[in-house]
Amino acid sequence: MIRLTGLTKRFPGRTVVANAVDGIDLEIAEGKLVTLLGPSGCGKTTTLRLIAGLERADAGAIELDGKIVSDPRNGVFAGAHRRPIGIVFQSYAIWPHMSVVQNVMFPLRVNKPRFRPAAARTKALAALDLVGLADLAERPAPALSGGQQQRVALARALVREPKVLLLDEPLSNLDAGLRDRMRDEIRAVQQRLGITTVFVTHDQDEALAVSDDVVVMNSGSIVERGRPQEIYARPQQEFTARFLGVSNTLTGVVTEVLDTGVCVQVGPGRLICSANAELSAGDTVSVFMRPESFGFSRKQHDAEAWKGTVEFSIYHGDCWDYYVRLGDDVVKVRVYKEKVGLAHGDPIFLQPEPEDAIVLPA
Ligand code: ADP
Ligand code: MG
Repeated sequence: MIRLTGLTKRFPGRTVVANAVDGIDLEIAEGKLVTLLGPSGCGKTTTLRLIAGLERADAGAIELDGKIVSDPRNGVFAGAHRRPIGIVFQSYAIWPHMSVVQNVMFPLRVNKPRFRPAAARTKALAALDLVGLADLAERPAPALSGGQQQRVALARALVREPKVLLLDEPLSNLDAGLRDRMRDEIRAVQQRLGITTVFVTHDQDEALAVSDDVVVMNSGSIVERGRPQEIYARPQQEFTARFLGVSNTLTGVVTEVLDTGVCVQVGPGRLICSANAELSAGDTVSVFMRPESFGFSRKQHDAEAWKGTVEFSIYHGDCWDYYVRLGDDVVKVRVYKEKVGLAHGDPIFLQPEPEDAIVLPA
């Protein structure tokens, strides 16, 4: 449904000459929701605006629904209104002088094919129904809450029945509690309509929760792509591991290659784990561990446990984070359901979960 080939965009007049979008190849199948996930400035918005036709690419082709809508080599460029897209921005961009239903009707009154007022109204009410706002159709738009305004923006993006929905950080302006609910509602509407969707976010939890596939971006390029469970548990790139909250890195050496994985010697001890890449004995590797990926005890029950001491601890209500010194390494360990936390200097024994370790060539 969406095919980007070598998509490249450079903004003129930048002191550091780098491409905002640097040769992106991406295909998105019909009906799928794919997230562009990456840090601020990595080119997510620019990619979305290129797909929308709000920005012109310097190189590379864009195909939507079987049609080339942009290809500088052939001078092809269809403007935003000629592409089968609906778009929602972070700032809801609601028109304050109009009612809710007038906001949603607007694209049907100004774009071709142009609808008569009664027909536009019927379609707008159907779109509002889809996002659960039919009851508020006659309200002045500014009278709505942030979450409701974002739903109006979604209804307005959907009212022309686009083939592709583009969402640029649609939840970032909402309060934390509302954000989760809106996220799930967007996913529900997307699945009900089966509409091909590109969802831009810098928030890893949001990306994992909402996507069929996650595309991790950095510096205008795609780092890797995968299903949420793969990207989270089995990232192929260090950048992805770090961006998805793997805060502990240990350097190690592969001592043995087994049928089921590898045996790795790291500073604090030994780990037998499945590897994310082809490795041989003697290879230097980075072992990434999430704070949640350790069992712990206050006494040594297991000879293989890693012995350490607590440097400091942080209380979060439902869990504690312990920063644990293991020789030259300090690892962060998250522990749930502990009433009394450990304090500076307390001994602690860690049992790393080998299944959770991510091993990549250093
Ligand atoms: P993201 O959405 O991932 O935060 P953007 O696509 O907005 O990233 O930006 C990518 C890069 O392009 C950044 O370095 C940004 O400063 C630059 N950029 C974006 N829009 C413009 C513009 N209109 N003019 C100049 N530089 C821009
Ligand atoms: Mg952006």
